[in-house]
Amino acid sequence: MNSADQLGAIRARIAHTAKIARRDPADVTLIAVSKTQPEEAIRPLLAAGHRDFGENRVQEAQAKWPALRDAFPGVRLHLIGQLQSNKAADAVALADAIHAVDRPSLVTALARAMEAAARRPDCFLQVNIGEEPQKGGCAIADLPALLEQARGADLPVAGLMCIPPAGLEAAPYFALLSKIARDHGVTGLSMGMSDDFETAVMLGATHVRVGSALFGARA
Ligand SMILES: *Cc1c(COP(=O)(O)O)cnc(C)c1O
Repeated sequence: MNSADQLGAIRARIAHTAKIARRDPADVTLIAVSKTQPEEAIRPLLAAGHRDFGENRVQEAQAKWPALRDAFPGVRLHLIGQLQSNKAADAVALADAIHAVDRPSLVTALARAMEAAARRPDCFLQVNIGEEPQKGGCAIADLPALLEQARGADLPVAGLMCIPPAGLEAAPYFALLSKIARDHGVTGLSMGMSDDFETAVMLGATHVRVGSALFGARA
């Protein structure tokens, strides 16, 4: 199957799962994670009408997306990777949503960049849901302070984001993120990837980030 066929299949799986969970499929945004994919792989999805795409690296996105955006109006670009504070201005200029806001210095840098650019991409605060030392995301215990800082700095907080520990059942981690979001009055949940997006939709994901299931394995 090519990526446009896969798109239909994945949308159908999301719709089916949403129905079981008594949710409106329209409340789940499928982000096609196009990192490392060349333009030729992305164009069929754009031609099929898909508009939400995810990239990990600012530089790669800057190289790929201006031309694609000109050709296909309405693209929404989601930056989903770890973000260095010195890339905050570039990220704000480029992205419609930033999914890995995970520390006070980054909140400060993004707030400053948004003020300067008069542009306010949606922000998802990333939580290190499995408390893994090597992983991005703020500690669960640090989330309330980060959230307060982000709201105080006028960042448009759209939700929380997580990447559960590899090799473990993801559902408990999705459920935990969902509970933390509820406890703090946050509505969006960016969770679920190729191997577990249906589980994430069952547990309330509003944004699933799907790469390899759409495009095939990355080189
Ligand atoms: C690469 C990536 C994805 C997509 O992963 P797949 O397993 O290919 O679906 C989702 N989220 C983040 C943060 C990623 O870096």
